[in-house]
Amino acid sequence: MRLILMGPPGAGKGTQARFVADHFGVPAISTGDIFRANVSQGTPLGVEAKRYMDAGEYVPDEVTNHMVRNRIDEEDARPGFLLDGYPRTLAQVTELDGMIGFTGHQLDAVVVLTVDPEELVQRLLQRAQTDGRTDDTEDVIRRRQEVYSEQTEPLIGVYRDRGILIEIDGMGEVDDVTARIFAALDAIPQS
Ligand code: ADP
Repeated sequence: MRLILMGPPGAGKGTQARFVADHFGVPAISTGDIFRANVSQGTPLGVEAKRYMDAGEYVPDEVTNHMVRNRIDEEDARPGFLLDGYPRTLAQVTELDGMIGFTGHQLDAVVVLTVDPEELVQRLLQRAQTDGRTDDTEDVIRRRQEVYSEQTEPLIGVYRDRGILIEIDGMGEVDDVTARIFAALDAIPQS
């Protein structure tokens, strides 16, 4: 399975990514997690990424594309993968098409989690208290939402036109959302 999990900040991508990846026996690849790991280890990539992340902006495409390409090339991603937080720009979509096409495979599905805007803000403010992420302040949350609408929301139409988009209601209990995703994905043919 080659899957993408999309949704606005706070939609529950990270939470669901782990369950879905385990279900299909593929690695969950989260660009946000990889950036945060680099930030905490103080690598050059982390130093560069932190400037953007703390402002709620996207890390430049070249940096992100390069990082994802390296990760997808690893052995565990041969049978498939679930991408959480990538692609987020049209340029990243094109880049990912190239990466997958090169291996002769195809993208199986793009899952979008939809959640009410007020609920999203509540979840992020809640996470700010429990996880202490430096990008979960009110100003930065607002900026991340703007950047998502401007740069990432258009991707939904792109994948809908390809006929691989699956929209899932992300409201309610975590387990219920997981069950909805499984039901939708179990119904599609695996490549
Ligand atoms: P969120 O919970 O807001 O969806 P993530 O944990 O997925 O956030 O990502 C945190 C930050 O990492 C983003 O705000 C952005 O700065 C950076 N980032 C993650 N994925 C990408 C990407 N595909 N392209 C550019 N920047 C990214």
